[in-house]
Amino acid sequence: MSRTPIIAGNWKMFKTVSESTAFVQDVKGKAEVAGVESVICAPFTNLPALVEAVKGTSIKIGAQNMHFEDNGAFTGEISGIMLKDLGVEYVILGHSERRAYFAESDEIVNKKMHAAFKHGLTPIVCVGEKLEEREAGQTKDVCKVQTEAAFQGLSAEQATKVVIAYEPIWAIGTGKSSTAADANEVISYIRELVKGLYGEQVANAVRIQYGGSVKPENVQEYMGQSDIDGALVGGASLQPASYIALVEGAK
Ligand code: PGA
Repeated sequence: MSRTPIIAGNWKMFKTVSESTAFVQDVKGKAEVAGVESVICAPFTNLPALVEAVKGTSIKIGAQNMHFEDNGAFTGEISGIMLKDLGVEYVILGHSERRAYFAESDEIVNKKMHAAFKHGLTPIVCVGEKLEEREAGQTKDVCKVQTEAAFQGLSAEQATKVVIAYEPIWAIGTGKSSTAADANEVISYIRELVKGLYGEQVANAVRIQYGGSVKPENVQEYMGQSDIDGALVGGASLQPASYIALVEGAK
């Protein structure tokens, strides 16, 4: 089973609308490599302009979060209906920064997974251990709990479409990336977990990215591994040249 590699830029809280559209002008035709999916996950404010800017290209647009309810008295929140209405295709869920700074629990992440599918959005769900958990030998246990909770109640058809991002928290934004072999070991384990939940066919189809200090210089090392299907990239996705090199490197 061949899985289409997927590079997703996670811009976090960076870029204004004009910076976003200028970025697309710079990467158009370049961060578009046959056989590689290219997704930009931007702040909510930039999504309408980005959806417009990527029309006619193969680049897809994602959000970085959403609420699990469709609408209601949730001041400051954005729902899946609103994202779908804009033409957004992907949504990052359960990023470690959301878990750490905005108290997102496994249960909330699972509710968001269901809401994403309800509205036809593809989730990129993040799992990964803290440094102290890695040092205590708990990496796989943490990934198991987070992965199984995220998938709870999803059908096999939905599970196949999920993109999982394995992001060891100590490697995010620190310049300390996990070695490709270590990342592959954990990602293979996550694929085994999916197999345990849904069987071999779904496990072979589901795409699992590595994330944490991925850059043009190391992306090929990760992509060369048996179970790594792409990368979720923060810092190195912000500059057009670097983003283009990441997409090219995923081929
Ligand atoms: P980084 O961030 O590439 O800057 O380490 C990755 C992420 O948080 O998704």
